[in-house]
Amino acid sequence: MAYNPYEDAQTQFDKVANMIGLEQSARDLLREPMKEFHFTVPVRMDDGVTKIFRAYRIKHNDARGPAKGGLRFHPQETADTVRALSMWMTWKCAVVDIPLGGGKGGVACDPHLMSLGEQERLCRGFVRQSFSQLGPNIDVPAPDMMTNARHMLWMMDEYETLAGGHYPGVITGKPVGIGGSLGRTDATGFGVIYVLKDMLDREGIDLHNTTASIQGFGNVGEYAAKLYSQWGGNVICISSYDQADGMSYTFRKKTGCNAEELARIKDAFGTIDKEQAKELGYEVLPGDAWLSEEVDILIPAALEDQITLENFHQISKSVRVLCEAANGPTSSACDQLIQKRGIFLIPDFLANAGGVTCSYYEQVQCNMNFFWSREEVLERLNDSMVNASRAVYDLAKGEDIYMRDAAYMIAIERVNDAIKLRGWI
Ligand code: GLU
Repeated sequence: MAYNPYEDAQTQFDKVANMIGLEQSARDLLREPMKEFHFTVPVRMDDGVTKIFRAYRIKHNDARGPAKGGLRFHPQETADTVRALSMWMTWKCAVVDIPLGGGKGGVACDPHLMSLGEQERLCRGFVRQSFSQLGPNIDVPAPDMMTNARHMLWMMDEYETLAGGHYPGVITGKPVGIGGSLGRTDATGFGVIYVLKDMLDREGIDLHNTTASIQGFGNVGEYAAKLYSQWGGNVICISSYDQADGMSYTFRKKTGCNAEELARIKDAFGTIDKEQAKELGYEVLPGDAWLSEEVDILIPAALEDQITLENFHQISKSVRVLCEAANGPTSSACDQLIQKRGIFLIPDFLANAGGVTCSYYEQVQCNMNFFWSREEVLERLNDSMVNASRAVYDLAKGEDIYMRDAAYMIAIERVNDAIKLRGWI
């Protein structure tokens, strides 16, 4: 049966709802989004023909604050994927205890195949079509898969034109100097490593002596690779998707990949140039080679549903830690196998909460119209991530609970408190 991320997100939720005896009305409210907006965006393409793009913005829950979450550009975007991702955003904001709810958006498109002008018209069209659903106090998009600061700025500009004023809090991940926060670009990847380092410390593993294999070299993988290496870890493999032939490739250097040099030979969407990589001494292997590499830590930082029942056996016996930097990279069906193998799991919505945490700081800075130094942003980010990491770790160890379930427990209980206090149930 085809993988459905929404069913997966609901399975994860149901499991923990049962464990904590969540009351029925809370389950009914939280196992699906509160509000969905499905629409189309007509875009005049450069050749003069108008193309219609399918788009979604879905609000899972806003009991703890305005809905927050990325906007993806993805050729196979579906309502169910956006539903799942919006749900995970609610838990993500709750586990790091920021006053925001969960939302997500998506447009079925492939920006690789669009000129900058077409991308701009798509971004502006998205805002025109969903204007009533967006706002600093309603729902606040941010960069996600294949979207970036430039897209966010076009969207903010369109929103402000329609609203007739300045509303920098309507969107985050904007360029620095025009409402963006220093550190936002690196925040998700850095946050992954802040949590990883803290968890390794608590498990008595020295990051210096570890090796890792990373899937994906986009907004998350690149910065995770950079900080992990900077802190002394050895990245053996990095995989990246190649738009030209629709295939993924694994770039391997046993002595350690240099994320800085790979970043110089990648395009804006994370595709690493194979020929240049070979010249730099990298082996270019099949896309799934990252998964079977003999390393201590696996960091899937690309798409959902990458580690499945079908390929789980490829994971090397050497792997001790699975740090989920992507949203939903491991299908729920693998959770039992992870536990059986004794792999230490750092669950996705905890590991990758750095991006949205920094988005929250961006909103705070925009509200004050006073911007912090990069050091201040990253210091706060580290504190938030480490606090969340410790709470999940302590609960998991103290009660002998699987790490994913512990993160869910904390998040669901916080959201449940909010819906009760508001009198929604
Ligand atoms: N797209 C990121 C995520 O999935 C960040 C969301 C945000 O900053 O609102 O967590």
